[in-house]
Amino acid sequence: MPPETSGQMVACWARIRARLRDEVGEVEYRTWLRQMTLHGIEGGEAVILLPTRFLRDWVNSHYGDRLRALWQAEDAAVRRVEIRVAAAAEPAMADGPAPAVRAEPAGLAESLAPRPMPPEIRAPEARSDWVAPLEPRFTFDTFVVGKPNEFAHACARRVAERPNSPGFNPLFMYGGVGLGKTHLMHAIAWAIREGDTARTVAYMSAEKFMYRFIAALRSQSTMEFKETLRSVDVLMIDDLQFLIGKDNTQEEFFHTFNALVDQGKQIVVSSDKPPSDLAGIEDRLRTRLGCGMVADLHATTYELRLSILQAKAAAAQVLVPPKVMELLATKITSNVRELEGALNRLVAHANLFGRPITVDSAHEVLHDVLRAHEKRVSIEEIQRKVAEHYNLRLTDMVSARRARNVARPRQVAMYLAKQLTQRSLPEIGRRFGNRDHTTVMHAVSRVSELIIQDAAFAEDVALLRKMLET
Ligand code: ADP
Ligand code: MG
Repeated sequence: MPPETSGQMVACWARIRARLRDEVGEVEYRTWLRQMTLHGIEGGEAVILLPTRFLRDWVNSHYGDRLRALWQAEDAAVRRVEIRVAAAAEPAMADGPAPAVRAEPAGLAESLAPRPMPPEIRAPEARSDWVAPLEPRFTFDTFVVGKPNEFAHACARRVAERPNSPGFNPLFMYGGVGLGKTHLMHAIAWAIREGDTARTVAYMSAEKFMYRFIAALRSQSTMEFKETLRSVDVLMIDDLQFLIGKDNTQEEFFHTFNALVDQGKQIVVSSDKPPSDLAGIEDRLRTRLGCGMVADLHATTYELRLSILQAKAAAAQVLVPPKVMELLATKITSNVRELEGALNRLVAHANLFGRPITVDSAHEVLHDVLRAHEKRVSIEEIQRKVAEHYNLRLTDMVSARRARNVARPRQVAMYLAKQLTQRSLPEIGRRFGNRDHTTVMHAVSRVSELIIQDAAFAEDVALLRKMLET
C-alpha cells in the first residue's frame, strides 16, 4: 500500500518542484526532474519515484541534497528523501489530489510514455547529429611534440593513418587536465575524415554519451541509439572518467565497444587516469580498455612549454620577446590551456593599447595569473617557522606575552604574513591571538625599520623569508 498523501503534502511538493525548476532552469528540469512523482511520506521520509534506475541515480547524486533541504524547509518532519524506481503497479500521485495544487501533470503513466524531447537531447535521427563539431584548431599541424607527449602523439598519428592497426585498438590516451588529450583526439578525427570523407567518425565526451543514452531510454529509442553508434567507423569517447559509477551507461558502452571492435572499427578513448586506476569502472570494461594501446601524456616540461608558446606566437603573428616567453614557461606550469590563455591576454592587451609586449607589461597584465602560481604560504606555516627559528613554542605566536624575546619574533611573523600572504591586516591580527589590525600595522613598520638599522636582524628575516618561499 502506498503511504498516505494529503492535499497539504501535495501542495508542498508542488512548491518544491517549482523552486527546483527556478533553481536549475527549464532545460535541466525537463531533462532530469520532470518525471519525479511523489509517492508519499513514510516515517519522516519523503519517497519520490522515477521511472528508471538511471534517472534515479542521477537525480540522487545531483539533486538529492537539494531535494532534502527543500523538503525540510517545507516540513521539518521530513528528514530524508528516498528516490525509488517506480514499479508499474505502484500507484503514484497521478490520480490523487486536485489538479489545482499540482505543478504539472506528473502521473506515472504519463511519465513512462514517450514524449518529445527538448531539442538538445532529441534522440538521434541523422548520423550527422552524432558527430560533435570538431575544433578547427585541434589538428596535428598545430600540436607541438615534445618528450612528454611524443609517445601519445605517435600513437595518435598511427591510428589516424591506419585505423584498427593490430595492437592499437582501442587507443587509450590519458593524462592530466590541459595536456592535449582532446586536441589529439580531434586531430585524429580530422585526419581520418580528410583521408576518406566517407568514413564516419563519432567523437563525443563520455558525458554526452551518457546524456544521449538516457535520452534514448526516455524516448524509448535505445534501438536507434545502438544502431547509430554501431554504424560508425571510428568511435571516440573523451573524458571517460565521467562514467565512473554510472553502471547503466558503462554497460551500454561496453556492448557498443565490443560490437565495434568485432566489426574491426577503431575506438579511441581518453581519460585522466590509466585504465588500471579507473576505480568505479566495471572490471571487464577496464580490462577491455587496457588491451589495445595505452599512451600517457606526461606533465609538460619547460622546453615543451617554451616550444608551445613559440608556435602559438608564430601562428598569431605576434612578436613576443624571448624573456616574456621564458617568464610564462617558468611560471605557468600546470596546464597548456592556461599557458595559451596567458599568451592570448598579453596579445590582446598589446593590440588594445598599441604597445609592444614586454616583461613589465607581462607582469602587469598577468599579475593575477602569475601570483596564483607563486607558492602559497599559510599564516600557520609562517608562525611555525618563525617559532622554530627563535626557539619558541607555536603558542607564543598567539599568546598575550609581551616579553621582548617573544614579542619581536611575533612581529617578524606578522610582517612576513603581510608580505607573503594575501591576508588583510585585520585577518592577520585575528590569527595572531585576536590582535587589533593596528598592532599588525605597528609590527610591519617596526620590522621594516629594524631591517634598515640592523644588518643581523635583516639577515634573519631574509633567511626566514627564503625558507618560506621555497
Ligand atoms: P585536455 O583534453 O588534455 O584537457 P586539451 O586537448 O583541451 O587538453 O588542451 C588544452 C589546450 O592546450 C588546447 O587549446 C590545446 O590546443 C592546447 N595544447 C595542449 N597540448 C598542446 C600541444 N602539445 N601543442 C599545442 N597545443 C597544445
Ligand atoms: Mg579534454
